[in-house]
Parts: sequence; structure tokens; C-alpha cells
Amino acid sequence: MTSRDEIIAKVREVEALARIMFPSYASAPPLRIGFFMKGRTAGWAKYGTWTVEFNEHQMGESLAIRDLTVPHEVAHMVAHFTGLGKGHNAGWKRICRILGGDGQRCYNAAERGVTIIKGRRVTEYHYHNGSQELWLGPVHHKRLQTRLGFHVRSNSTGNRFNREHFTGKSRIKA
Ligand SMILES: [Zn+2]
Repeated sequence: MTSRDEIIAKVREVEALARIMFPSYASAPPLRIGFFMKGRTAGWAKYGTWTVEFNEHQMGESLAIRDLTVPHEVAHMVAHFTGLGKGHNAGWKRICRILGGDGQRCYNAAERGVTIIKGRRVTEYHYHNGSQELWLGPVHHKRLQTRLGFHVRSNSTGNRFNREHFTGKSRIKA
């Protein structure tokens, strides 16, 4: 089960990443976080009250749903605040992917074919340096994106990857 605390922690993590990746979002006030229980909608972004709301019932099904829904909703707030996107357009999709989401419109588990497996799921981030690709876990991804000059070497090829090699793609590790 995904607890409220886990959802809140994910929002704060994605918010922090947004401030780094989108400098014009750095001055945005912290998001308010709300919860609801009913319906097939996984989340809402409410600009007026500067709130993101999550369906506790759906989010409780798996961390995979949490890890897709939080970037989705936060991306709406970033798009609105910065003017870099609108609705589910290309600008929003780009923001959503950079924040670790998959840029899809909705996250109803059944419709999206998300396999619900209980337990901890890890988001991996896609890097490509011209000849090699590498999927990095959240710790290395964050370090690459936040520490200037930091790089990671592939164990198998020895190739170097740095923050510029992030393609914006992410996946939930099974
Ligand atoms: Zn949406």
C-alpha cells in the first residue's frame, strides 16, 4: 500500500526536481497536497488554490501508479506557472517526462495497462550518449542532474554519462 506520507514525499521530490530543471519554476510557492477517495481519476491539478490532489484509493494500489501520477499532476502546475505547456500538449509532455512521468494523458490502471504489483517499485531514467544507453536509478539520476560535473561510468562499457545525456524517458523497474 502507498501511504499518504509516501505520496507527499514523492510530491516534494518531484517539486524539488522541477525547481532545478525549470529555473522559471524556482520561485513557485510549495504545492498544497490534498486527497480524495472516489472515482476513476487518479489526480487533479488545481491552479486556483495551488493544490495537487490524489485519489488515495487508486494511489494505494501501487507505487508504480504513484510514480506516474505525481509527475503528471506536478507537470500541470509547472506548465501553468512557467507557461511552458498547456493541457496535455507537447510542452506539458516534455515537462512530465523530465519530472519522471511517462507523458501519458491518464493513469487509470486498467486503461493504461499498468501491472499492479505490491511492493516497492523504482523509477529508472534513460541516458544516451551517442553510442550507448544506460538506465539509471533515482539516486544517480538525481546526482547527475543536480551536481555540476558529476558523471557515471557504465560498468559494462566504461562509457561516461553526464546530465546532458538524459533523454527525458523513464520507466518503472519491475
Ligand atoms: Zn492531466
